[in-house]
Amino acid sequence: MATWTAKDSIVILGAGIIGLDVALVLVRKGLGHLVTIVAEHLPGDTAPDYTSPWAGCNYSSISGSDANALRWDRLGYRHLLSLATQHSAESYVARTSSTEIWDDVVPSDKIKIMSEYLEKFAVLTPEQLPEGAAFGVTFNTVTLHAPKHLQWLRATLEKAGVTFIRRSVPDLPSVVGPQTEVVFNCIGNAASTFTGVQDPKCYPTRGQVLVVRAPGVTRNMMRYGDGYITYVIPRPLSNDQVILGGYLQKNVGDHATYDHETQDILKRTTALSSQLRESNGGKGPEVLGVASGLRPSREGGARVERVELLVDGRARALVHNYGAGGTGYQAGYGMALDAVKTIEALLPSQSVSASL
Ligand SMILES: Cc1cc2nc3c(=O)[nH]c(=O)nc-3n(C[C@H](O)[C@H](O)[C@H](O)COP(=O)(O)OP(=O)(O)OC[C@H]3O[C@@H](n4cnc5c(N)ncnc54)[C@H](O)[C@@H]3O)c2cc1C
Repeated sequence: MATWTAKDSIVILGAGIIGLDVALVLVRKGLGHLVTIVAEHLPGDTAPDYTSPWAGCNYSSISGSDANALRWDRLGYRHLLSLATQHSAESYVARTSSTEIWDDVVPSDKIKIMSEYLEKFAVLTPEQLPEGAAFGVTFNTVTLHAPKHLQWLRATLEKAGVTFIRRSVPDLPSVVGPQTEVVFNCIGNAASTFTGVQDPKCYPTRGQVLVVRAPGVTRNMMRYGDGYITYVIPRPLSNDQVILGGYLQKNVGDHATYDHETQDILKRTTALSSQLRESNGGKGPEVLGVASGLRPSREGGARVERVELLVDGRARALVHNYGAGGTGYQAGYGMALDAVKTIEALLPSQSVSASL
């Protein structure tokens, strides 16, 4: 019989945006004191196999068109917009004007659905489109300073009673204590190899990005074409930093960075953004850093699913929550709501509703 008094009654394995968003949903139910997050990498770290700090980071139409992706996008947009409205400075989330442009294949059904909830949504006229483009839209998006947002989440969760433990674990039973009732598995790319998970549908999608200094860049720009994606994302509260990208290299797990990719990104992004070309008195962006990150992708989309975990003859609820690909920030909160819903009936009655 569950007593729900221990701080590891609920264990979240993984402290990327996916695990942290699950903790946020639980905190908002007044359950922070029952939650322990176990992870090898924690907010504040940068490591090649910790994807979350490398994100651009914004809401965009990069996500899939299946029902889950559409629902998670909508929920995530609402969540992030509310942070941008109420806690922008602390959470490093900002409301930002955005333009998205397609060269040929336009995901029309998906854009129609997005138009129902995106702020200030408008379709570009043919005269407003750049050369070679077939379609474009403008709307208010949300941009995040990913590393700072992770650190804000950690501080917010700790304040609400969540415990963080840095530990690399070999398998799922290793995080189960005598009073643990629920485990959320949020291990990102490790899902393909981790003992007991070994999901063959998982694969990394590599992307190289540049961190540049480019005063005056206020507009988020995305362009989608045959085999490429180009983006310019002003980083909120960062002293004029802008993230430039990028690449979507399926099944590439290489952490290296390449000069030819840097030059290609600079060429594509300065062609896309007049603000970027005009920055630094017309000299264009000053490159501060180059990085590559591996999006934890999964054939068919992310897995949010409850199963049973048997440890020492006793069953616990195990909720898989991984495979967010290039959408962990925009989809993570919706995924977390779904993940928590799978164990709702097990939870103790909730007394507090936290303000965040
Ligand atoms: C270049 C790039 C740009 C991106 N841009 C965007 C964007 O604009 N918008 C957007 O929404 N998304 C974007 N993404 C995607 C987003 O970053 C990912 O979807 C998200 O970070 C995945 O988070 P995660 O928590 O699943 O994985 P991770 O951040 O990798 O976290 C995994 C966690 O599991 C832990 N872990 C794994 N194995 C073990 C173990 N054995 N023991 C203990 N702990 C373990 C790790 O230490 C870590 O804490 C981008 C990604 C990249 C690479």
